[in-house]
Amino acid sequence: MLQYLRLLGIGGIGIIRMSGKNCFEILEKIFKPKKNENIEQIKGYTMKYGHIIENEKIIDEVLVSYFKEPMSYTTENMCEINSHGGNVVMKKILELCLQNGAELAEAGEFTKRAFLNGRIDLTQAESVIDVINAKSEKEVQAGIKQLEGGLSKEISAIKQEILDVMVNIEVAIDYPEYDVEEVTNNEIMNMLDSVENKLNKLEKSFDNGKILKEGIKTAIIGKPNAGKSSLLNRILKEDRAIVTEFEGTTRDTIEEFVNINGIPLKLIDTAGIRNAKDEVEKIGIHKSKEIAKNADLIIAIFDASRPLSKEDKDILEIIKGKKVIILLNKIDLQQKLHKEDKDFKEVTDSIIEISALNNIGIDDVYAEITKLFEINEINLDNDLVITNIRHKNLIHQAIESIKKTKETMKEKMPIDIVAVYIKQILEDLGNITGEFVTEDIINEIFSKFCLGK
Ligand code: GDP
Repeated sequence: MLQYLRLLGIGGIGIIRMSGKNCFEILEKIFKPKKNENIEQIKGYTMKYGHIIENEKIIDEVLVSYFKEPMSYTTENMCEINSHGGNVVMKKILELCLQNGAELAEAGEFTKRAFLNGRIDLTQAESVIDVINAKSEKEVQAGIKQLEGGLSKEISAIKQEILDVMVNIEVAIDYPEYDVEEVTNNEIMNMLDSVENKLNKLEKSFDNGKILKEGIKTAIIGKPNAGKSSLLNRILKEDRAIVTEFEGTTRDTIEEFVNINGIPLKLIDTAGIRNAKDEVEKIGIHKSKEIAKNADLIIAIFDASRPLSKEDKDILEIIKGKKVIILLNKIDLQQKLHKEDKDFKEVTDSIIEISALNNIGIDDVYAEITKLFEINEINLDNDLVITNIRHKNLIHQAIESIKKTKETMKEKMPIDIVAVYIKQILEDLGNITGEFVTEDIINEIFSKFCLGK
């Protein structure tokens, strides 16, 4: 008799959820509804008002929602106690549940049960955590689409396409006296091509998915006084609400996530920019090199009111061959550097004249990023976007299996050998939705969840 429950958050209201066959029995021991009703008569999707009690003493005034199997998040009997959100009161109610036979839930326990009980597949379960952790609306949309079964449907359709051909292969293996092999070979090749195309498209969508999920890792580099912190402040101002700081690996690296007009940027080493006033940072051409190395996008900023210096030239050297936008800053002053200058043109076509101080040209910077990363092309209404590296790796594996199958066919291997390879493709795809997945993988996936979900 396992019961699972968990307490969520601190606030006006807190929710303690229980799931499991006997959760109503435990509830009855601690909850006294205003209007008494036999649990058999209480319908699912209803709420009852009453008190949590311990030895006749009222602990809290609560509302309890009832979900009856199989119509619940986990497909088991479930109840959610909506209590006051204070730590002390919630801890007390939680203790009462535990004393009466419940067990504490692990991270992701509820969603794991929904998966193990077959209500959702693994991709849907994984999308729950994506929706919770989303840092932008687009990311939420991608997560919801997956939660609704978008990826599962696509994978099943592809699997069906393979299975349809597999049936004919089985016939050819079981009844070799009928000469169906020639037809089947053509059929198999067409199917493999078609499936490979579809999977390639999905795999490619991960480039966009990665941007949605992780943001474009962006480094702002430039010599001291070029205007890095002015630009940074300008960018951060655009999106005060969503700026999140991530602790970097060293004490003074911070990454900030901003979202401007749907462009998710993960600004790296923003602490380095802010501390640039100290002497150690000023010599940091090596540091710039290192930061640039890890970036998806480099924004290199130059003081356009001064002629190009040795340091500027060093920076131009660093950014050669990278995805880069050059900003010529301080165009409100007398301009010594221009976007037509050969030094810049040699490096990139993305050169923008700005004034960080006066907010000139900043919108053009965002437009340029959108163009460089084809962000407008991320069309979540029509296209499926893979955001999960596990899915991407398995899709890649399936594509590799397709290639191997094609080779065996070209080598005119017997049909039963080909069939073994085709089964491998099915298995790779089945791992995405969780059909064949091992317990270790399941545990790893759900350990990333938060408690209570
Ligand atoms: P950093 O060392 O690269 O971070 O440069 P800062 O952002 O600290 O800027 C250095 C100096 O240039 C500061 O005094 C800024 O006010 C000034 N500055 C930055 N952007 C502009 C600009 O567009 N126009 C003018 N006139 N001054 C600017």
